[in-house]
Amino acid sequence: MSEKPTTPVWKKIHDALEALFRPIEIIGHRFILAPFRWFLTQIDPLSYKIEGTLFKKILQVTIYPLFMILTFVVGFELVKNGYTVRSFFGTIIMFLILGAIFAPLEHLIPFSRKWLDDHEMPIDVMMFFGGKFWGDYINKPIRLATVAIIVQEISPAIGQSIWPSHLHPVIQVLLLLSIKDFFRYWYHRWMHESEFMWRWHAVHHSSERLYWFNGTRSHPLEGLVSSLIWGIPLAFVQAPVAIVFVTGLLGRTIGRFQHTNMDLILGPFDYIFSSPKNHRYHHSKKIHEGNSNYGGDVIFWDILFGTFYLPKGETPSDDIGIGGMPNYPQTFVGLMLAPFTYSHIKKEAEQLQAGDQKGERVVTE
Ligand SMILES: [Zn+2]
Ligand SMILES: [Zn+2]
Repeated sequence: MSEKPTTPVWKKIHDALEALFRPIEIIGHRFILAPFRWFLTQIDPLSYKIEGTLFKKILQVTIYPLFMILTFVVGFELVKNGYTVRSFFGTIIMFLILGAIFAPLEHLIPFSRKWLDDHEMPIDVMMFFGGKFWGDYINKPIRLATVAIIVQEISPAIGQSIWPSHLHPVIQVLLLLSIKDFFRYWYHRWMHESEFMWRWHAVHHSSERLYWFNGTRSHPLEGLVSSLIWGIPLAFVQAPVAIVFVTGLLGRTIGRFQHTNMDLILGPFDYIFSSPKNHRYHHSKKIHEGNSNYGGDVIFWDILFGTFYLPKGETPSDDIGIGGMPNYPQTFVGLMLAPFTYSHIKKEAEQLQAGDQKGERVVTE
C-alpha cells in the first residue's frame, strides 16, 4: 500500500513557470536560430579542409593577441570620443559584433565538434537578458548604496593618492584587472569549496558545452554578492573612469575567449590570463580538475595560491558539466530555481546513482 504523494509547492511553481518559458526556448531553438545555424553549418566542410594547414595554425596563434590589442585600441579610442559608460545598447551591439566573428570562427577551428550543437543557446540568451535586468535594477542600486555608505563611513579620501595615474594606461588597465580578479578569485574559490555557495554557482557549471556566449550563464543571485565583493575594494582604489571603462571591455573580451570553442594555441597567455584551455579544466566533471583555475580574467592568482591546473601535453576533455548529477535542470526555469531546489536535485541524483549500482533504473518525477 502506498499513498499517492502530494505535489510540493516548489514543483507547482516550477511547472507553472515552465509552461510559460519553455515554449520560448523551443521557438528560439527551432525557428529563430535556424537561419544562423544553416549559415554556420556551411563553414563545417571548410573546417575539415583546413585541418593540418599553415593557414589554420596562423589563425590559432594570432586571433587571441589580435583581439586583445584591438580591445585596447578600440577602448581608448572610445574614451577619446567621450564614451566612458557601458550602456545596455552598447553591450548588445558588442555582443552582436563579437558573435558575428566568434561563432563562424568556432565552426572553422572547433576544439570540440560536439560543442557546435546550439540546443542550449536560447536558455543562455534568456539568462543574459534576465541577468542584465536583475543586474541593472537590483544589484546596481544595492551595490552603489553599500559602497557609498562604506566609503563615507571610512573616508572618501582613502585610496585617492595610491592609484598610479602616472603609469602607462595599458599598465593601469592590467593592474586594475588584476586587483579586481584577486577578489573574484577568492569569491569563486569560496563558491566551489562551500556547498551552500556551490548551489548558486552550479548554474554556471550546468553547461554541457563551452562556446563564446555561455559565460553569461550564471544565477543572478551569484552576481548580487560578487558585485558587492568587487565593488567595495574598487571604490577605494579609485582608478580613473577611462581606465575602469577599458578594463571592463578587456574583461568582456577575456570572458568570450575563456568560454570559446575555438581551438587556439596561446602559449604563454595560458599562464597569464584565464584562457579557453585552462578554463576547460575548470568546467570538468572531475572534482580535482574543476576545483582549479578560479581566475576570471587572470590566472596568476591561481599559480600563486596553488590552484593552477594545466598538465603539460594533455588536452582537456569535452565531457563537461556537473559531475554526479545527470538530473541537473537544463531549462531556464529549472536553472533559475535550481539553487532553491538543490537539496532535492542532490537527493534525486543519489537515488539515481544507487539505482545504477543495483543495475536498475530509478523512475523519478
Ligand atoms: Zn566555477
Ligand atoms: Zn566558466
